[in-house]
Amino acid sequence: MGGEWRDSVSNRWFDVVNPATEEIIAQVPNAVADDMLSAINIADSVQQEWANTLASDRARILQKAASMMHTQVEELARIMTIEEGKPLAESRGEIAYAASFLEWFAEEGKRVYGDVIPSSSATKRIMVLKRPVGITAAITPWNFPAAMITRKLGPALAAGCTMIIKPSELTPLSALEIARIFEKAGLPKGVLSVVVGTDAPALGAALMDDFRVRKISFTGSTEVGKILMRQAADTMKRVSFELGGHAPLIVFNDADLDVAVQNAVLCKMRGMGETCVSANRIYVQREIAKPFVDKLVNRISQMKMGNGIEEGITVGPLIEPAAVEKVERHVKDAQKHGASVLLGGSPSTNSKGYFYPPTVITDVNEEMLVMQEETFGPVAAIAEFESEEEVIARANNSRYGLAAYFFTRDVGRVLRLAEQLEYGIIGANDGLPSTAQAPFGGVKESGLGREGSKYGIEEYLDIKYVSIGL
Ligand code: NAD
Repeated sequence: MGGEWRDSVSNRWFDVVNPATEEIIAQVPNAVADDMLSAINIADSVQQEWANTLASDRARILQKAASMMHTQVEELARIMTIEEGKPLAESRGEIAYAASFLEWFAEEGKRVYGDVIPSSSATKRIMVLKRPVGITAAITPWNFPAAMITRKLGPALAAGCTMIIKPSELTPLSALEIARIFEKAGLPKGVLSVVVGTDAPALGAALMDDFRVRKISFTGSTEVGKILMRQAADTMKRVSFELGGHAPLIVFNDADLDVAVQNAVLCKMRGMGETCVSANRIYVQREIAKPFVDKLVNRISQMKMGNGIEEGITVGPLIEPAAVEKVERHVKDAQKHGASVLLGGSPSTNSKGYFYPPTVITDVNEEMLVMQEETFGPVAAIAEFESEEEVIARANNSRYGLAAYFFTRDVGRVLRLAEQLEYGIIGANDGLPSTAQAPFGGVKESGLGREGSKYGIEEYLDIKYVSIGL
């Protein structure tokens, strides 16, 4: 915090547990509200200076941090795998993805242009400046312990904002490693603080109640997003929210079946299905349902579950016992309402670790929990449909609106669905559309604002109008 590694004033520590082995892998200081207040005070003392630093100098620090992430990928990936559980290959991929946001925003920060607007008065000039919003806060989830941080930190620093990060208490180690990297990359003391602790409501309230924090960027559940939005009202903070999703993935008769299956597996099973953009509701047109399901089961049955630190493992553990219980509850509920389990379907009997095997269920309908809320687990739930019109209506029948995917070779249909699906992100013949260059974010209860792309940095900039009398 503030360029120093500090214990909490509470003098308490908490355990970080490896979900594959249930072993305690680290103990970290358990910060309380007073620690958060210190972080805000420190940010306040350096905010002005950071805002006045040249954009090109800020860019150099971001580039250096990104390049250090690439150099240290092995070490960072191992830390991520032992605290979050995802297989090592996925952790390496996430580190590269996380670094890409720093690289992208290093450049975007140099292109923060204002305007000169023609005035209706000969004796006046109108200018529009873009200025950093000030101290910003990020509250982040456990499922992408590095990328959900850099997607916020990159644009904040590039725009000239200081940032205080409160990572998930389940994955504090990756966040602390990112702080260490920025320290080594030459970020001035106090511009970034990472505050880790188990009392999320108290730490969150300390940020939300303080007027000096001018923006909160949150990624996590819709439920917590709503709490934060209410809290933000009191100090009129700017907000951006990346919340839950319940993505439909639609496969039409005319799709390239192999492409559809390959993308469905990737999109559904990446991160053990614990992603906000996971294909939770798979709709397959009736004529091709059987070959699609056969190919999908064949591919998923080849996945290897185990401790993600071992090479060759493609499915790791879920994050905690409650996650296994939720998946189990969803699958049992589907079975009770008539679904058929073709693969998996009950928790692993491994003596250690929070494992649930990749599961495929068919004959799914909208009455079932799997179709109503995020399962957040490796369960491919498949329903059949007849017509384009019907499937668009079913796909849109959700309070979420983050990502939607479909597979077809019909160009007209690509455009029709791209327009009609009520989602912030559309993957047409693409199950993995997320990239630093493109705007990521949802509509409806999936959130507000966009991350990545040229739009992402705008979330950290205020527009200032200057009228100049000649
Ligand atoms: P969560 O909402 O439980 O926790 C997210 C963060 O909020 C954590 O740091 C947690 O400590 C903190 N938190 C919890 N209660 C709080 C409170 N009262 N005040 C302040 N902070 C509080 O979510 P999670 O379980 O960590 O992550 C899973 C959820 O995140 C899923 O719903 C998933 O879809 C969503 N998610 C969304 C995106 C996206 O980009 N839209 C990306 C990843 C995850």
